[in-house]
Amino acid sequence: MRLEINNVTKKFKHKTAVNHFSMVIEANECVGLIGPNGAGKSTLIQIIADILTADEGHILLDGQKISAKKDQIGYLPQYPNFFSWMTAFETLLFMGTLSGLSKTQLQKDIPLILAKVGLAKEAQTKVGTFSGGMKQRLGIAQAILHKPTLIIMDEPVSALDPIGRREVLNLLKEIKKETTILLSTHILADAEEICERFVVIKEGQKIEDATKSQLLNRSQESAIYLTIRKEDYEWLKQVEHFPYVKGIENIGDGFKISVHQVEEDAYRLLQHGLDQKIAFTKFEIGVKESLEEIFLALVVEV
Ligand code: ADP
Ligand code: MG
Repeated sequence: MRLEINNVTKKFKHKTAVNHFSMVIEANECVGLIGPNGAGKSTLIQIIADILTADEGHILLDGQKISAKKDQIGYLPQYPNFFSWMTAFETLLFMGTLSGLSKTQLQKDIPLILAKVGLAKEAQTKVGTFSGGMKQRLGIAQAILHKPTLIIMDEPVSALDPIGRREVLNLLKEIKKETTILLSTHILADAEEICERFVVIKEGQKIEDATKSQLLNRSQESAIYLTIRKEDYEWLKQVEHFPYVKGIENIGDGFKISVHQVEEDAYRLLQHGLDQKIAFTKFEIGVKESLEEIFLALVVEV
């Protein structure tokens, strides 16, 4: 499996929803497409699912046009629609038949899929009585019914309460072991738990494409922030030459000491200072940026 999104643009009248967007997804990846509301996530996902047509660019699955490979893709819309009077079993039978699967095969497969998404006991229960998490798990069942190699999900957990969210995230953790996943979300924490790679979209454009550790390493800073009395400034001359100190910078009435291993080095530095009778008025370990902060900085500033 290899999905190639090549320079895709989609306009609605004067609004450019997706703007020259390109990315590649390789087999077994779980990619989070992250962006604020209105960024173009649903539009892009619907183009991948071959529900919308791009004005420019193209999408290839294993080198072929997506329209010829539709059976390889499972799609979970942002707002899946079910008939409340159908049971879970009937829903999957109905949707499976619509997508061209044989009834005999479906009769065999549906119980297995329902078990997989944790709805085996609810097979004969009407969908109208389902919680948000149960409906979303049924939506996922529908998306994996034809055993696709790629599943694309539009905000699969955004609208759920904490219990529903947990149910669905746990299910996705199972599914990602055997299938490539692309999911969209405007809540970073949703993607953070299951995706290794994050693609950030804003105003239709890709503004970031990186793994979790790349993102964290890029903006993480290990530093100690301290303030000492003027009489003690001489001590900083020694500090400057410590092998674990990368640099000293004056910030306001204090100093930022850049180091390699902040926890360990902060302890050594504090110990040394106390031995030298340095009176610290402030001694703080630099707070590492979280993914959430990195994401917000990207989306708000760019
Ligand atoms: P997201 O899913 O990231 O919230 P969408 O892809 O739904 O964003 O929308 C991207 C932009 O395109 C928004 O400004 C939205 O208003 C606009 N848009 C989406 N669908 C349509 C449509 N059918 N007609 C006109 N504008 C649309
Ligand atoms: Mg959307």
